[in-house]
Amino acid sequence: MTYQEFKPCPLCGAPEQIPFAGCTDFMVSKESYTLMRCLSCGVVYTLDPPSEEEMKRYDKLNQKLKLGESPSGLIGKLYFRVRNHMLRRKAKLVETQAYRTNGSLLNYGAKTGFFSNRMERRGWKVTSVEKYHEERLFSLEMFHHRMIDIPEMENLHDGTFDVITLWHVFEHCHDPNGLLDRFYKLLRPGGILIMACPNIQSTDAMHYGPYWAAYDVPRHLWHFCPSSISGLALRHGFTLMHHERLPFDSFYISVLSEKSMRHRMAFIRGMAVGFRSWMVSLTRRGKSSSLVYVFRKRQETE
Ligand SMILES: [Zn+2]
Repeated sequence: MTYQEFKPCPLCGAPEQIPFAGCTDFMVSKESYTLMRCLSCGVVYTLDPPSEEEMKRYDKLNQKLKLGESPSGLIGKLYFRVRNHMLRRKAKLVETQAYRTNGSLLNYGAKTGFFSNRMERRGWKVTSVEKYHEERLFSLEMFHHRMIDIPEMENLHDGTFDVITLWHVFEHCHDPNGLLDRFYKLLRPGGILIMACPNIQSTDAMHYGPYWAAYDVPRHLWHFCPSSISGLALRHGFTLMHHERLPFDSFYISVLSEKSMRHRMAFIRGMAVGFRSWMVSLTRRGKSSSLVYVFRKRQETE
């Protein structure tokens, strides 16, 4: 298999691609997918993923966790404890990076609305976008917070948001180029775009290779590293201002990876690998399992 057989890079249009890895959907379908790497922009992407419509059946994964039902097992319990800590941390990050403690925030891919609710309680005016009806209904019943569906974004006014957030959502989006252009218009001058994504250059990604759970094919269409995502954002008018670690992801992802490999004592082994990855990321941020990127909208004249 040579790169000439493949289509142009779906993000930058460059012709040269090489196979990067072969990954399996251990969580839902057991199907296998090829990951390709663009030799021009450096992005790694899932080749021939399901369409947006087809993806719904693959997204059933973690539905119980998403909808806030009682989790089972140690991973589920840890998930909820860590989530509360991370909600506080994310809120603080937004306010520190935006230099304000209130304003207008668009939360894209809001899922069940826990982060949106947290920011509203802190005084932010929050607009939430969520594609799944079940999640929108959950948010309405749980938080009395109405979310809009993706097509309703057409009704939003340009230049009105101080902050746009995507927490582990961008890697799921079928049209990153179109989305970044839309975000550029929706942000006010100087507004910020915050995106959290898994990092394929992390210590745990290197350790697990194709078994790394954060490849999460076919749900993750794009697999970024700091240089590929900042290059993409730059082409759409955004400058990288800051990036920081998401400390718990290395543990969660490593345990899931161990389970995919059907290793005995998966939890203990995963925690050990996760700890090593976390330790490395203390001094080498670019090796963190996941990263949060803060981009600022450049002025047209810059
Ligand atoms: Zn490319």
